[in-house]
Amino acid sequence: MKWLNQSLFRRLLISYLFIFILGFGLIGIVTSISTSDYITDQKRQDMLQQATSINAIIHHSNVVTDDIKQTIEQLGQFLGSTIWIIDRNGQIVATSSMQELFMGEIMDDALIEDILAGKNRFQVMNIEEEDRPMLSVVVPWGTSEEIYGGIILHSPISGINTTVRNIREIIQWAIISGLVIVSVLVSYLSWSISKPLKKVEEAANEIALGNYKKRVEYHDSVPDEISALLYSFNRMAEKFHKIEEERDLLEERRNDFIANISHELRTPLTAMKGYLEALQDGLVKDKESQQKYYTIMYQESEHLNHLVDDLMDLIKLESREVSLDLYYVKVDDVLKKVFLHLEQAIQEKENNIQLLIPDNVPQLIADSVRLEQIFTNLIHNANKFTSNGSITGEIEVDSSHLIVTIKDTGIGIPSHDLERIWERFFKVDRGRNNRGRRGTGLGLAIVKELVILHNGMISAKSELGKGTAFTMKFPLYEQRKSN
Ligand code: ATP
Ligand code: MG
Repeated sequence: MKWLNQSLFRRLLISYLFIFILGFGLIGIVTSISTSDYITDQKRQDMLQQATSINAIIHHSNVVTDDIKQTIEQLGQFLGSTIWIIDRNGQIVATSSMQELFMGEIMDDALIEDILAGKNRFQVMNIEEEDRPMLSVVVPWGTSEEIYGGIILHSPISGINTTVRNIREIIQWAIISGLVIVSVLVSYLSWSISKPLKKVEEAANEIALGNYKKRVEYHDSVPDEISALLYSFNRMAEKFHKIEEERDLLEERRNDFIANISHELRTPLTAMKGYLEALQDGLVKDKESQQKYYTIMYQESEHLNHLVDDLMDLIKLESREVSLDLYYVKVDDVLKKVFLHLEQAIQEKENNIQLLIPDNVPQLIADSVRLEQIFTNLIHNANKFTSNGSITGEIEVDSSHLIVTIKDTGIGIPSHDLERIWERFFKVDRGRNNRGRRGTGLGLAIVKELVILHNGMISAKSELGKGTAFTMKFPLYEQRKSN
């Protein structure tokens, strides 16, 4: 059907109007037929009663006397009907009005038969002299023992027809007014459904074109299915917007990451290339300088190695590809071991070591290799940024945590950078990182990931020129439960 292809608004409108016209049309037809039947029936009953009453008045006589003639004439006027009296042969012997021309006429046999059998009869008569059709009722004249003839009462049908026509007209007008009211209501209803859907369509199109900020306005004062749809649509758009923002952020971070890696790789490579070219071109003649160049190139390649290792480690940690080898670990032993490994380097910078470790440190469920990596990184940093000072390793235990602190009395970190030291490749003021302090800027990012992997937390406190302290808190019991 063609109209099915049209807009929702029109389809709703046409469907509702069709249902209304069909429904009310049927109701109208049925009502008008039954009303007309009812009125006709009522009229018949009235006429039958009147005819029976006339018989009651005149049944005392079996002949039409002057008295009877007068009576039926008065009754005819009173009832507004025409009354005929017929004898047993069906011949009209008296009429109520001045209709002498009917006198002596004979009625048909079927009618006479019914009367003589004591039956009442209704029929529509087209009387030649009357230009309008008449509804007639015929009742026997006489008593139950003896029938003298019949009484015929005529009443014009036009009265009934007019009443029925009037009623039909009222019904018609009711339907037309109903149709107008329903059209307005249905239009509003269809509009209130189709309008928000149109808005959703427009918003969806905009979102498809990339405007993820687009939302559909709606009033949730009336919580219906449409507002629920709009609410869900907006939530979906919100989600898209968030995903888009996250994607942008990720893209930005990825680009930063690549730029940082390129930079970090290029620096040692450029240096190595420079030294190699100098050696290749025979610019460095004496053995001592040559040896110095080789050493630097070796250091650069070591640095590159370190960078690639750290990078791989961090990428695996961030993508949760690292799993821990968990055992009961004596953290104090691990800490002492790391200090021992780095002792020479610490002494070289004329720093002294302080260990503050209580007795009976509870064992921690941890990966000892990774724990060693954490401590090495932190102690290495402490030593890198401290000279002629001290480096402290401290262990504390509270009701549910094991707390490890690595403290130094070095150059410290400016407060505005303290937040950023956990970022990949971040180094406070690159100028500070002279050869002796050179690093990749990945150490603390790795440390943080490893501490989190152990369900722990790490924080840093620092005062410029006075020193820095890194504190880690590892849960003692929770960990046991979960492992
Ligand atoms: P890597 O550890 O990869 O060799 P790095 O030590 O430079 O390089 P991180 O360990 O991540 O990188 O440290 C980031 C930056 O934070 C350092 O470059 C340094 O500027 C600052 N920092 C870290 N620890 C200390 C500390 N104990 N004292 C002062 N500054 C520090
Ligand atoms: Mg470091």
